[in-house]
Amino acid sequence: MMDEQRVRKEIVETATRCYDRGLLVAGDGNISVRVAPNRIIATPSGVSKGWMTPEMMVVVDIEGNRLEPSDLGVSSEWPMHRVIYQARPDINAVVHAHPPHATGFAVAGLSLSKAILSEVVLTLGCVPLAAYGTPSTRELTDAIEPYLEFHDALLMANHGAVAYADTLEKAFNKLETLEHTCKISFIARSLGNENTIPDRAVEKLFEIRERNGAMRPEARVGQVCSYTPGANGDGETGRRGDGENEQITLTRAELVELLTESAKLFQR
Ligand SMILES: [Zn+2]
Repeated sequence: MMDEQRVRKEIVETATRCYDRGLLVAGDGNISVRVAPNRIIATPSGVSKGWMTPEMMVVVDIEGNRLEPSDLGVSSEWPMHRVIYQARPDINAVVHAHPPHATGFAVAGLSLSKAILSEVVLTLGCVPLAAYGTPSTRELTDAIEPYLEFHDALLMANHGAVAYADTLEKAFNKLETLEHTCKISFIARSLGNENTIPDRAVEKLFEIRERNGAMRPEARVGQVCSYTPGANGDGETGRRGDGENEQITLTRAELVELLTESAKLFQR
């Protein structure tokens, strides 16, 4: 049995950190921790994440019904947490926020599907963009559900971001990494060039990731990013390595030989 008082304190600390780092403002966002299969401690609705206390946390079952008396209700965004816990028995913590860079990507219609930072490939994988769904309705849960199995964080169009993990600390770290990566991607795009890690190097990162148990091997092909071999593109860009966008490397001698052979063909 988990120490629930401690969990309440950890949720408040994480919420305060989200608030202090500008990942959410006012009553935005929500955090929950599953302490038993059908018992979850969550942030209440309508309270600023910067000013919460452990006593304010609500205890609910998977459907969002209160298990302990409280003046405060669970967030109206509870269905987002429910669908994640139902889809992923390995997940015990969910952090949802509206981080400015990640949400900017979600508003611009962009996913985080390019391998631009080696450590992000290792720890987070790609982050797809789920279609817009009205918060607190089935539209939203239907939009995110298909991505839950193989991704540990999602962008939600015109809304925000959500990350989840087996512990609250890891879920927060994933959300923070997502925001930081979107910020770096934004800066690289502003500078005019967003180079990606070569496919061969991505393969190596996948191997390290699987050896460290950071992600299940199935996620390698199950993810929707453009750098996942065997996966479908997410519509934003075609898969790198496909067709006319494929990058190949030639030595100077090979290039000279190729050009010489081509020139001979034209002389005939
Ligand atoms: Zn939200």
